[in-house]
Amino acid sequence: MALTGIQIFKLLPKTNCGECGVPTCLAFAMNLASGKAELDSCPYISDEAREKLAEASAPPIREVKIGRGVRRFKIGGETVMFRHEKTFYNPTAIGVLVESTIEKEVLEKKLKEWNAYQYERVGLNLRPELVALKDSDGEDAFVSAAEEIAKKSEFNLILMSQDSKRLASALKVCGFKRPLLYAAVKENLEQMAELAKENDLPLAVKGNGIEEVMELTDRLTEMGLKDLVIDSGSRDLNEVFKDQIIIRKAPLVAQTRSLGFPTITFPCEMASNLDVETLITSMLIAKYAGIVILSDFKGESLFPLLVERLNIFTDPQRPMTVTQGIYEIGKPDENSPVLVTTNFSLTYFIASGEIEASRVPSWLLIMDTEGLSVLTAWAAGKFTGDAVGSFVKKCGIADKISHRKVIIPGYAASISGDMEEELPDWEVIIGPREASLIPKFLKEMYK
Ligand code: SF4
Repeated sequence: MALTGIQIFKLLPKTNCGECGVPTCLAFAMNLASGKAELDSCPYISDEAREKLAEASAPPIREVKIGRGVRRFKIGGETVMFRHEKTFYNPTAIGVLVESTIEKEVLEKKLKEWNAYQYERVGLNLRPELVALKDSDGEDAFVSAAEEIAKKSEFNLILMSQDSKRLASALKVCGFKRPLLYAAVKENLEQMAELAKENDLPLAVKGNGIEEVMELTDRLTEMGLKDLVIDSGSRDLNEVFKDQIIIRKAPLVAQTRSLGFPTITFPCEMASNLDVETLITSMLIAKYAGIVILSDFKGESLFPLLVERLNIFTDPQRPMTVTQGIYEIGKPDENSPVLVTTNFSLTYFIASGEIEASRVPSWLLIMDTEGLSVLTAWAAGKFTGDAVGSFVKKCGIADKISHRKVIIPGYAASISGDMEEELPDWEVIIGPREASLIPKFLKEMYK
């Protein structure tokens, strides 16, 4: 049960030292109660209070961490059914299945190929996270493939075997990656629980339907395991879809703790080709898989999935932005044109794409307008002549060019006068209203 701000306040040190970023313990308690602060921000909470508060402020769906170091990722931790109610926090992890029968050379080639699937978007690096290694050919093959993946790739690992001894052998060579163990089932529950506990690893639990899953998660929780991931067992599209909704809804609406864990799903076992797998995966990213496992990574299926994931797991109340600064498009030099626009990510992508299409190397100045597009930023007083002029002056572009001309978006034509006052040595040129006209505009200007 969530605690109120006053209940939380009673557990705090009440020294009002301000180290948590707010002046009083009461303000911190209120922020904690409304989810605006992290418990770790107060260094003085006693262990006993910390335990009570962590329990009370834990999200209904447990947040499970997989992997170690910079590639570590989190799944679960969600608090709402629908993104517009607040936001979704931890993106669905995307993985690929590898059978341990795979030949060493083929695996090496595949890892290299998969590793190259990384895309830059909105200043973020989009990439898949996981390789799920399935035990299908005895201990030696499983252990050596686990070692190969762990040592020669940056992917996190899922070790898939129902033989806990085999998993223990594999952990000797890849345990440093902190893999997810898959899976505890009715028949091996104790051994798997012991292995996960001993190595402090997250554990997937596979049941034959939701009821069995609940029984198993209850038993594992009693054994002291907290980091669980649920596989409801079905590979039928309709069933899997329903299961995802039930598993999301039960802890949020009915406080059913037995289902308060993220899920793992296997589109690779639900379709006969990658296209259908991709469609199923796109549905499961939206509703509500913690992990999806595909049979292969191909750019044409992976890229749209990564972009879909990016869109679904961004905060709908915060516009996506790019960092303020000078962006080079092509290889601009001192004579290249300078364009300025806002830092709404869509504005940036459309403008930079059209500049790129013009094949005229250019400097694109991105000004921080708190993620608003040109017209909205102008209407909100964040893209005014004074502000844009001052930004152009201070951003450092003058040191990179020999001319003094700056192109502004056509929709913001009315700011040109104020800009010229702010930039007396500059010529302010009004660019096209629509980004699609940028190539024609630049080509004509620089032919
Ligand atoms: Fe109170 Fe802790 Fe914040 Fe200090 S850091 S004001 S003790 S909540």
